[in-house]
Amino acid sequence: MELHTDLLLDLNILSRATQKYYDRQLQPFDLTYAQLPVLLMIYESEGITANQIVAQGQYDKGTVTKNVQKLESLGYIETVPSRTDKRLRHLYTTDRSKMVIARIYGIRRDWWNHLMAAIPAEQAGQFLSQTRSLVNNAIEASRTENAPLLFYRMDLLSVNDWPGKLSLVLHAAGCNFRCPGCADRSRVILEEDARILQTEDILDQIAHRKTFIDGVVIRGGEPFLQEGLISFLRHLRRLQVPVRLQTNGTFPRQLEQCLQEKLVQEVSLQILNDPTHYAASAGLKTFHMGSLLESIQLLKQAGIDWDAVVEVNDGGFDKTDLQALESLMKDAPHVVVRNHEQSAAGIDPGLKPMEETAFAKWKERLER
Ligand code: SF4
Repeated sequence: MELHTDLLLDLNILSRATQKYYDRQLQPFDLTYAQLPVLLMIYESEGITANQIVAQGQYDKGTVTKNVQKLESLGYIETVPSRTDKRLRHLYTTDRSKMVIARIYGIRRDWWNHLMAAIPAEQAGQFLSQTRSLVNNAIEASRTENAPLLFYRMDLLSVNDWPGKLSLVLHAAGCNFRCPGCADRSRVILEEDARILQTEDILDQIAHRKTFIDGVVIRGGEPFLQEGLISFLRHLRRLQVPVRLQTNGTFPRQLEQCLQEKLVQEVSLQILNDPTHYAASAGLKTFHMGSLLESIQLLKQAGIDWDAVVEVNDGGFDKTDLQALESLMKDAPHVVVRNHEQSAAGIDPGLKPMEETAFAKWKERLER
């Protein structure tokens, strides 16, 4: 380990030196460094709750509770029960705080000036913005690394889910759509007794099969509903496992992140109908096309291989504006048209496939 380039060691030294400085300076007020951020957050947002301090400061709950109690016992703050929710307590500074707060801000400013003296004035802005990016990255990672993943099924070997490739397939639970044509309602509504797969077991299976599968297919439900998906994909990238992701296109921000970080190698985009009939095919009252159009634009710009998949049935497609549907998919390198398979497990078990001749015409016109 090179001491002069070990960032965490440097930050640790900075943090301990800061703590020593504050503890010494705050001694006359009976305060310590640990209580300072909590006191300042309350002073700057009178009426804030302990939970808001936990969320905004990325602290653990026990630490905030302990410091709130200490500040209250010292007479620096008071807690007032919420009028609308008895479980909530709002925090306010007392007169004792207001008498000393200017001196506390002075202590903080002096330390800041002392530290920043090491950075040339013209570089200070850039330094602070880079530090902020570093912190934001760390917060983002801490939020997602342990975020839950709900995969309810794993097919160890498939020849059908990634054209021309052998894949291991993971099925994510939950979807923001309720397509009448969805062949498996457990994709959308997780059964009470559903078994959720352990991420470690999934990774073990992938590691064992890495030499003879071409990659992993992640399909829905809607995978982007999984909070932990991005960190899981980063893990697969570290293992050098290619990924094909199926999505309904309504989470462009998450898709953008995947494309920017090259976390997926192929995307399969579900297209449900032309814009006029989209909401009905998604089982919704209304649907705004903006998120889907944004996803299409992102895929087009990313230059990766992707396909648009349309699944038809004998209800809801007789009035489809084919020209509008074609225009929606005009940028897709491949278009796949599938016929619905009637299933007792489907969202609408009575829904039948499209009549064969009509289906053949759809295929001929749209597929490429
Ligand atoms: S078909 Fe796809 S998008 Fe529609 S409800 Fe099922 S999983 Fe969701």
